[in-house]
Amino acid sequence: MNAVMAPRHERTTAEWQAADAAHFLHPFTDFQSLAKKGARIITRADNIYLWDSDGHKILDAMSGLWCVNVGYGQQALVDAATRQLKELPFYNAFFQTATPPAIELAELLSEVTPPQFKHVFFSGSGSEGNDTIVRMVRRYWDILGQPERQVIVSRKNAYHGSTMAGASLGGMSGMHAQGGLPIPGIVHIEQPHWFEVGRPQGLSRDEFGRVAAGWLEQKILEVGPEKVAAFIGEPVQGAGGVIVPPETYWPEVQRICDRYGILLVSDEVICGFGRTGNWWGCETMGTRPDLMTFAKGVTSGYVPLGGVMVGDRVADVLIGQGGEFTHGYTYSGHPVACAVALALVGEAQTCGLMGALQLVKDKASGTPFPSELEVGMVCRGHCFGNGLIMRAVGDRMIIAPPLVIARAQIDEMAALIRRCLDLTLADVRGRGWM
Ligand SMILES: *Cc1c(COP(=O)(O)O)cnc(C)c1O
Repeated sequence: MNAVMAPRHERTTAEWQAADAAHFLHPFTDFQSLAKKGARIITRADNIYLWDSDGHKILDAMSGLWCVNVGYGQQALVDAATRQLKELPFYNAFFQTATPPAIELAELLSEVTPPQFKHVFFSGSGSEGNDTIVRMVRRYWDILGQPERQVIVSRKNAYHGSTMAGASLGGMSGMHAQGGLPIPGIVHIEQPHWFEVGRPQGLSRDEFGRVAAGWLEQKILEVGPEKVAAFIGEPVQGAGGVIVPPETYWPEVQRICDRYGILLVSDEVICGFGRTGNWWGCETMGTRPDLMTFAKGVTSGYVPLGGVMVGDRVADVLIGQGGEFTHGYTYSGHPVACAVALALVGEAQTCGLMGALQLVKDKASGTPFPSELEVGMVCRGHCFGNGLIMRAVGDRMIIAPPLVIARAQIDEMAALIRRCLDLTLADVRGRGWM
């Protein structure tokens, strides 16, 4: 600690940035380039707005990181956390103990999830939830006397978190390139991205949906059906760029999973808790998953919490025949996190609120910009400069605003987006890129 440093609340933006660069390694960040540029310091928030350390007001069209679904400054959540912190800030659920908030939340989750879900396994995050998925899926087949069923099929450009198992399940090649991933027993098929994959082949969305689901069957046959344990997917790929699959995709995936008896896992970390217009993305897409991962929206990001909803097919085996499941986290069922989730679960709203805009050089032909121009980043820069947080995944601009966003605020957001797109267009023309 530097004794001459000003007290926290009196630091200038430059001082915050210097201290940040000196000590704080940010997630998914090129440390050197951030240190040169200086981080944007966010100091407070209310409803759907953030303020930075220079006093700029910013419309947060990304709900923090897909999580602050009820918006900032919800007093009920603050009160729930405060009450629980005073009464019982922590106790674990190991060694045959439990706390009331964890039990009540488990009960409530089984009410708001599809009927096959009556049990939950808590974790501290979505990544941990997906680690639990890998352990649980393999354990399930072990108990059933089919230990050779190890392989989990996932998709390229999927995001399932950043732990060893999460990053392995995910299909981000940049992540696999670091740390020797994926771990054994995880394979990937192509994603159902119509604009990039199906459209250039002249397929309609519906035709492409069936073709893309067919890749799962091909992979199952290639690996050997007796070795395939599960298929995992996000109902709508979030971090990959809000890739909404064709309507024909998920029902066909469900049929294929049923045909080969393999478990279907729905990663609901983004889609859960109302993001797609129903409580769960699987309801919007028409599937009956055996397991669901959740996190983010469950506490609106106010405190960390995640978990796995365990459907009857798996629960009956784990509970009825399994003996000890040697897996769990110190914070599984953390009472404060569960108390916040309980305060929230009753009031989540539902409306389909995630979207993407693919920036292309020529709208008629759909010709993309050369990727090295990073047009998405140019657009993101204009957004930041004009008080809007919109994320860029390549040249795909994505939003997922808090579900509490009001009608007039949606108009305000749309006007900001339009202005930033116009600025981007002028900028890109000015650079001679189109
Ligand atoms: C964010 C995310 C995760 C990882 O959750 P963390 O809480 O960051 O570990 C997993 N799956 C999906 C679909 C996500 O969007």
